[in-house]
Amino acid sequence: MTSLDKLADHPRVDVQSPAGIDPRGRCVVYRMRRSQRALDNPALETAIAAANLLEKPVVVFFGLLARHPVANARHYEFMLEGLAETALQLRERKIGFAFRICSGASSNREFARFCAQVRPSLVICDDDPARRASRWMREASLYPPAALWSVDADVIVPSRLLEKEQFAARTIRPRIRARLSQFLRPVGNRAVRVAWKGDGAIASSPVAVELVDRLHLDRSVEPVGRFHGGTKAALAALRRFIRECLPGYAGARNHPELDATSQLSPYLHFGQIGPHTVAIAIKDAAAPARDREAFLEELIVRRELAVNFVRYNPYFKNLASIEPWARRTLTEHAGDKRAHLYNERQLANAETHDPLWNAAQRQMVASGWMHGYLRMYWAKKILEWTPAAEQAYEICVRLNDRYELDGRDPNGYAGIAWAIGGKHDRAWGPERPVYGKIRYMSLASTSRKFNSRAYIEKWIG
Ligand SMILES: Cc1cc2nc3c(=O)[nH]c(=O)nc-3n(C[C@H](O)[C@H](O)[C@H](O)COP(=O)(O)OP(=O)(O)OC[C@H]3O[C@@H](n4cnc5c(N)ncnc54)[C@H](O)[C@@H]3O)c2cc1C
Repeated sequence: MTSLDKLADHPRVDVQSPAGIDPRGRCVVYRMRRSQRALDNPALETAIAAANLLEKPVVVFFGLLARHPVANARHYEFMLEGLAETALQLRERKIGFAFRICSGASSNREFARFCAQVRPSLVICDDDPARRASRWMREASLYPPAALWSVDADVIVPSRLLEKEQFAARTIRPRIRARLSQFLRPVGNRAVRVAWKGDGAIASSPVAVELVDRLHLDRSVEPVGRFHGGTKAALAALRRFIRECLPGYAGARNHPELDATSQLSPYLHFGQIGPHTVAIAIKDAAAPARDREAFLEELIVRRELAVNFVRYNPYFKNLASIEPWARRTLTEHAGDKRAHLYNERQLANAETHDPLWNAAQRQMVASGWMHGYLRMYWAKKILEWTPAAEQAYEICVRLNDRYELDGRDPNGYAGIAWAIGGKHDRAWGPERPVYGKIRYMSLASTSRKFNSRAYIEKWIG
């Protein structure tokens, strides 16, 4: 087996094309999508390792859609802040960066044109759990002479190794834990052997936050001052969390008024920091074991359960994704009278009778992030106040994806499926109107568990 074969054989790598590596190619291309970072990125490291073996340079391609169907000015500004930093870091590492603004619904055409210019031996993509086989076939057809590999860069345990949809945290936990000694290791940032010399043909558009003003984006969802994108900001947030909040995290994480969680979810969503970097820093931190374990349970077990859900359940964006027991109970209660009914506009404007829910909705709209404990309450109330569970699920997905900086993420789809459809949960008694056996949360009991008055005051005065 050659060293390149060994690289292709790594459990994180999936060979997506029939073509072998073309030794006459001029470079290795990494098509960056989800893992938008130059540091601790397994997809980039695989590209560099292959390029070093082939004695060729590496060049990264990023295609920015000028007209995105869901993302808005809030998401794009955060993403562009991160990409501007990534561009600089790649240059420092002697790696090329081709940043293209694409007018169509996808960046495939620009990518095919780019490959025809730089003629790669191998194309590497970061994996996306929502991508099905047909899209990989299409990707391989964009530049048939090169081999195409995908690299599962944003989970600790490669999600393919779990083979099928996992039923709950208790079924995925032992499978993940058994593999941590193999996969929870520093990613490393190896040196390139052959520097990218620059090439007029790939002249890149400058990456700048000001681009937001030139693109056809939904500007009604404005950028937020609270979060600034980029790996440096993510590392600073990680250090601050370890210093100030990790000791005590297990007890404080369900207290929205304390803001004692890491708020790393936007950075993880845009791949500006990777789970390896976060997990290793937490594992080695000087904090009580109970707090470190509670955090790693969220970051690894719960997060990778969500990735598993999206990878193996094609219906993750709607109610068809839920288990038969949950479907049965929701159907049995479909005709139950709803005490309050709100439409999507009223929900978006936080115009309900419930001050805690309104405060959570306002936090999301104004700051681009809602505390995790309230995300559960938020989604469950939408089930209670909407005529049908299918509709509630879809409204949750739309609002969450629109306003949360970390929206459009497997965690969001799994969280909504859990709250509305009992995904990864069990049946609960006593049966309640509308919810049936789906776990219920009431305003009174949720408010009692933390200083809800302080939280409401903060967000609605
Ligand atoms: C209805 C609903 C919607 C949600 N929408 C999103 C979303 O759009 N994007 C998103 O990233 N998360 C979502 N979550 C999951 C979770 O609430 C957030 O990841 C978390 O609150 C982010 O805050 P943090 O980074 O401070 O978390 P921390 O408590 O600091 O946890 C660290 C990391 O662990 C992961 N994590 C934490 N809680 C969960 C969880 N319950 N499930 C999976 N991973 C978790 C996240 O990556 C998080 O950044 C949703 C949950 C629910 C119930």
